[in-house]
Amino acid sequence: MAGHALGDVVYTIEQLPNVVRNIYCIGRNYRDHAVELGNAVPESPMVFGKPTHALTAAAGDLMLPAGRQNIHHEVEIVLVMGDAHRPGEPFANRVSGVALGLDLTDRDAQNRLKKAGQPWEFAKGFRHAAVMTDVYAVNDWDAMLHTPFRLIRNGQTVQEGVARDMLFHWQTLLDFIAEHFGLGAGDVVYTGTPAGVGPLEDGDELVLQFADATLGRCRVRRA
Ligand code: ZN
Repeated sequence: MAGHALGDVVYTIEQLPNVVRNIYCIGRNYRDHAVELGNAVPESPMVFGKPTHALTAAAGDLMLPAGRQNIHHEVEIVLVMGDAHRPGEPFANRVSGVALGLDLTDRDAQNRLKKAGQPWEFAKGFRHAAVMTDVYAVNDWDAMLHTPFRLIRNGQTVQEGVARDMLFHWQTLLDFIAEHFGLGAGDVVYTGTPAGVGPLEDGDELVLQFADATLGRCRVRRA
């Protein structure tokens, strides 16, 4: 499926709660997205995390927490580790597969926290803020790098990116995370979002696509 980049499903979304350990995310890894929010382009990977309680499936109803008015979608390629990675090893050796994900972000809270110089957990780590599709084996990493991925909201493509535009490549990201935090089996890495982030509304239908293959489909529900 999805051209020749992706192979079979290695984990279904039902299996993910038993698989996923640490959730790492990379901020500002696509220049056009850094610029759209008025942020400087980072000089080294910008890493933050989410609690595993944030994990949810890109299927059925996507329940957003109450009391947050401005939750943005950020569609991202997610790497899933099958084994421990050590800096300098070929990155693909320890990756068991890839998924698409949404790094959901409470933009109002994030702007407030950024201004106050406070950590981002409240804006990025809430329940269901880490959305994932099934995980697929990678047949061809070079094809992965050149295949577009996108988020379609209510029938309109709102975000589309291609991994070759990343400021920091997968090798750099995994080396950096392994060196500073540790990177083992079950850890997942959200690798950054391209431009086009925006707010979700109750009833939105979201489709996550890689090439022309739909990997995830869900409907936004507000609590
Ligand atoms: Zn993100």
